[in-house]
Parts: sequence; structure tokens; C-alpha cells
Amino acid sequence: MDIVNDYTIIKMKKQKNIALIAHDNRKEDLVNWVKANKDRLENHFLCGTGTTAKLIADTAELPIIAFKSGPLGGDQQIGSRIAEGNIDFMIFFWDPLEAQPHDPDVKALLRIAVLYDIPVANNRSTADFLLSSPLMNEEYDRKIIDYSKRISSRAKEYSNNIGNK
Ligand code: PGA
Repeated sequence: MDIVNDYTIIKMKKQKNIALIAHDNRKEDLVNWVKANKDRLENHFLCGTGTTAKLIADTAELPIIAFKSGPLGGDQQIGSRIAEGNIDFMIFFWDPLEAQPHDPDVKALLRIAVLYDIPVANNRSTADFLLSSPLMNEEYDRKIIDYSKRISSRAKEYSNNIGNK
């Protein structure tokens, strides 16, 4: 099969749309990180899963859009907005020591974030490195593999194979 190196570019603006999510055992760490970085975060648009977003709004006093709670579909809502190009950055402190009822949703969200080439921090040090990057205040072109071209080249290959049988 030929490798098709075509990409779709999605432009990230200077002001990023940042999703914030934390599992229960990681919420305190995320809220503390948000408070410590309030001056940087307030330059961007924030959203998050229900409980995490409410905690951030109450304790860090930052404007933040709240989706449903994670176990009730909030992770999937964030994933769909990433696919639509409306979220371009994610801080997700997931719990490495406890299984979650919505683990399939968590896996799906992490997959979609990789697919759409968005920066993701899953722990504090990564979040620090990302947020202090000069790219945070610049435009940036995300490169997403153009799967429509891949799909049509695969379909062509399969139809040739079927035609040869
Ligand atoms: P929550 O969801 O912010 O509503 O707790 C987070 C998650 O468990 O994905």
C-alpha cells in the first residue's frame, strides 16, 4: 500500500480553546495547577467536564464552560468538539491508579486528541512545559492526516483486489 502523505491543516489561534479534565483523585492537583497558572490561563478560553469545571469556576474564579460530568458523557462531548475543531488543547489529569466506569470514553478521548494533533498534558510537569511554551501565544498549524485521501486510496485498492478475483 502506498503511504499518502497529505495533511489537512487546522489553524490554532493565539487564544486557545483549552479543555480541562481531572478524575476525582487528581482534581485537587489540577485545581492547584490552574490557580498557580491563572495569569496565563485567563488569556485563553476554558471548558471542562462538569465537576472539574465547577471546581475551577468556584476556586480559581476563571470563566469556564462546563460540559456534562465525565461519567455522564462529558468526555465524549469534549471529544466531539475536538473532532469539530472547536477545542485545540487539553489538560487531562487522569488517574493512573484507579479504573473508571467510563474508561472506554477516556480511551476514545485520548485517541481523538492524538488523531487531531492537539497538545495534551496528562500530568503536572507536561502541563507546565506546554503552558510555558512560546507557542501558547502564537498561531500554530496543526497537521491532521487527510484520511479521506487514505480512505479513497484504500477503497480503490480493495476494489482492484475484488475485481481481480
Ligand atoms: P468530572 O469528570 O469533571 O465531571 O468529574 C471528569 C472525568 O471523570 O472524566
